[in-house]
Amino acid sequence: MKIYIYSTHGGVWLSDLSLKERFIYSLERKKVDKIPVCSVTQTGIVELMEITGAKWPDAHYDPEKMATLAIAAHELIGLEAVRYPFCNTVIAETLGCTIETGSLDTQPQMLDFPCKKKEDVAGLSIPDKLLESKRIQIILKATDIIKSRLSDDVPVVAGILGPAAIACYLCGVNNYLRWCITSPEVLNELIALGTSVCTEYANALFDRGVDAVVIIDSEAGPDLLPPPLFESLILPQYRLLTKNLNGHSILHICGDATDVLDMMAASGFEGLSVEEKVNLTYASQVISGRACLIGNVSPAVTLLGKSPENIKKEAKQCIEDGAGILAPGCGIAPRTPIENIRAFVAARDEYYSEKGV
Ligand SMILES: [Zn+2]
Repeated sequence: MKIYIYSTHGGVWLSDLSLKERFIYSLERKKVDKIPVCSVTQTGIVELMEITGAKWPDAHYDPEKMATLAIAAHELIGLEAVRYPFCNTVIAETLGCTIETGSLDTQPQMLDFPCKKKEDVAGLSIPDKLLESKRIQIILKATDIIKSRLSDDVPVVAGILGPAAIACYLCGVNNYLRWCITSPEVLNELIALGTSVCTEYANALFDRGVDAVVIIDSEAGPDLLPPPLFESLILPQYRLLTKNLNGHSILHICGDATDVLDMMAASGFEGLSVEEKVNLTYASQVISGRACLIGNVSPAVTLLGKSPENIKKEAKQCIEDGAGILAPGCGIAPRTPIENIRAFVAARDEYYSEKGV
């Protein structure tokens, strides 16, 4: 059945929306015929690596392989966006962290960080030619390759570390947890530096045609940072960041973000991506139309380990509970069977056909 909507620009058949239009309309909280199903978090799956030959760890560092693996999650299993990269270490390494490269099924991890003590923070600065740094160049080149290989109808989504995550990488988690109480002004310096880096890097991605940037910033969430500190340290930086971004933005916070949902909705991001620990019905009420709610089927419990029938059941429940974009609650586990992701995608269509739409 076609759904017709009249706008000042003339009528539009909503069922004729391209994947990109449907994705962007959803972020903008406009009417759509059905919500998109995709992942705004990592999509590198070992089965796809085997099929395409674009394997981790090379696919983190080789733009061609990164593009190939990212596109495969759309073309071979039906996710309705192309999302990359597959790790959270690009900015961290660019700013001076030491990173080990990971393996076929583990992501690159931080080994060492530059700010061991508070005095180290003053010596830290953003590289003059940030966008020409090695890891960022890889992502920018991968973006160009994806844009050249992909139909313009498919949304391109890039993940980058957020300000709190950058601060935590730079000073290590122990200093982060201590300084947020004992020296919030020092942490604030690091978070502000993170905001500047995010803004410059995200806008470079938008310049190259990325449709949405996902700010991965779990270190701002209640699992690490007490909610009153979210209000004083994080919210002003998010408002500054979103004001200066030249494209669509999504905030992803891992863990149970329930206690900061209201502030997340006031931060200026168009999309809020949350884990399964957040109750979507409750989140929809709190957010109350201020952002598009994205989530939140469990990648570790459900997508990795449950049967296609149970995956479909949980995915349909997410739509019922108010998801504006159906997505995993966090990064897809690399060993997830691709059949499970296909079932996840199929659940969206089944939901609407069962509803008679
Ligand atoms: Zn997460």
